[in-house]
Amino acid sequence: MRFAKLVDYFERLEATTKRLEMFDILSELFREVEVEEIAPVVYLLEEQLAPPFRGIEIGMAEKLVLRAIAKATGVEEGRVATLYKKLGDPGLVVERLLEQKKEASARGKLTVLAVYTRLMEIAEQTGEGSVERKIQGLSDLLAEAGPKEARYIARFVMGRLRLGIGDPTILDALSKAVAGDRSLRPELERAYNLCSDLGLVARTLRGQGLEGIRAFRVRVGHPIRMALAERLPTAEEIIRRLGRCAVEVKIDGFRCQVHKQGDAVEIFSRNLERTTPMFPDIVEGVRRQVAAREAIFEGEAVAVNEETGEIYPFQVTVQRKRKHGVEEMAREYPLVLYAFDLLYSDGMDYTPEPYERRRAALERMIRPGDRLKLAEMIITEDPKAVERFFEESIERGLEGIVAKRLDAPYQAGARGFHWIKLKRSYKGELSDTLDVVLIGYFHGRGSRARLGIGALLGAVYDEESDTFKTIAKIGSGLSEEEWVRIRELLDRSRVSHRPARVDSLIEPDVWVEPRYVVTVLADEITKSPVHTCGKRDDEPGYALRFPRVVGWIREDKRPEDANTVREVLELYEMQKRVKLAG
Ligand code: AMP
Repeated sequence: MRFAKLVDYFERLEATTKRLEMFDILSELFREVEVEEIAPVVYLLEEQLAPPFRGIEIGMAEKLVLRAIAKATGVEEGRVATLYKKLGDPGLVVERLLEQKKEASARGKLTVLAVYTRLMEIAEQTGEGSVERKIQGLSDLLAEAGPKEARYIARFVMGRLRLGIGDPTILDALSKAVAGDRSLRPELERAYNLCSDLGLVARTLRGQGLEGIRAFRVRVGHPIRMALAERLPTAEEIIRRLGRCAVEVKIDGFRCQVHKQGDAVEIFSRNLERTTPMFPDIVEGVRRQVAAREAIFEGEAVAVNEETGEIYPFQVTVQRKRKHGVEEMAREYPLVLYAFDLLYSDGMDYTPEPYERRRAALERMIRPGDRLKLAEMIITEDPKAVERFFEESIERGLEGIVAKRLDAPYQAGARGFHWIKLKRSYKGELSDTLDVVLIGYFHGRGSRARLGIGALLGAVYDEESDTFKTIAKIGSGLSEEEWVRIRELLDRSRVSHRPARVDSLIEPDVWVEPRYVVTVLADEITKSPVHTCGKRDDEPGYALRFPRVVGWIREDKRPEDANTVREVLELYEMQKRVKLAG
């Protein structure tokens, strides 16, 4: 497929404001591309060159892209910068400059694969002289592209393609491309959950059909999409739901999925990014303490005071998140990995096995030692025992507990009642926080007018429809300086119309691509006719009362990691019960 053809699809995707239309356009595209093109196309649609766990990035800041544009178009750098200031979009800049050049006839012959391969080559440049090589590589590519193609290449390189397509929509569209409807979605999702690589799933489906998809197995080195927990407000409700169950301490640190193959160890974060370099101490501990040649297991890594054995608060643990000085940090605040689940070991796929078996095998696999420990656990059917274990955990400064269904398999990629968390904060009124995605903002009035921003429009994620639904207008919690900073950030992801995956009755002054997640604290959840979260036909939706931002943008969360509509409904129900009980 010619890259120009893919660009036509990009334009159509950009123009649509309906998620269903987006789904149709994508399935048409997936039918049209060749087998060997489909993985690159999927990656490009998701604005990446490879799945995040491979850690491949273009690595070109704005300045470098502008230099490449200057070089490709033969226009002086200063003029390119001025035009960029005026247009605010690197894509429009290069498009306009190329249009002004005469000899356009040789351009426009690039194929999708050629563009992808050359972007990969740019990404792979490292070390001395790599900056110049990246600029040269991009400028050569832009010079060969037609104006419109160059528009999308420049946007992609700057991370500003913003097609706003979610994984579920891609899975649905793949199913439709092959089967004519969405019926293959569950099987595709299963394969995706096991390999975390949508490009690989797409290529397998197109190349080997459903047989290939069904043959997907866990593989060391391919992160498995992580299981997530639901919540309930009390120990009684947990026992009512699960009966006899395991109750583990809930530790607040870094979730780690460890992959071991001989001496080679890799660690992946909750977002499935490769975080191995952050944990040299854990890597060493895995080599020493894991009694298996090959293994995949999960745990929570936290800083522990070696003198007292006490777990430090998250603020201490989080300092490990850095590029430089990791070794010193590891000496000052060594981490301990509290292992809680086993997914694979020496040829045995444990993901379909019940919790009890996985836990027993995990206990056999971890040798005693100081770096790896097992998350403490009891098995009980007595709410009082759960309550006691919970109180003890809280007293030790832990976050709470996670109760686990004894006969449940490892539910890759899913939130469900196989794992139920209980945190201290649920036990009052709604003092638990929610993570919301920002989808727009309002120009301020009064004293805020000066800042150009007065409130944020926040949304939660609806898993069923793969859309974002509004839940709050948030006007407090940030300092003046932070308001300005957040406006500047949002302006960079500004879009001209409501994105296709956003469902909103409210029209903010500025729409933005759903990208940034913030944590908000609210007094309670109330019914509201103006928000789309949980809204059905004539039924009102749900809103947050007195929402305020706590902290800053959650870099570790993608928009789909925000709280979901379903969770809001559950919290609403929980809040009612707590009020009644109070
Ligand atoms: P939350 O982030 O509040 O939804 O809680 C789920 C997170 O708790 C998981 O992603 C883990 O990082 C963390 N966690 C801590 N201890 C455990 C445990 N014993 N079992 C499962 N998850 C745990």
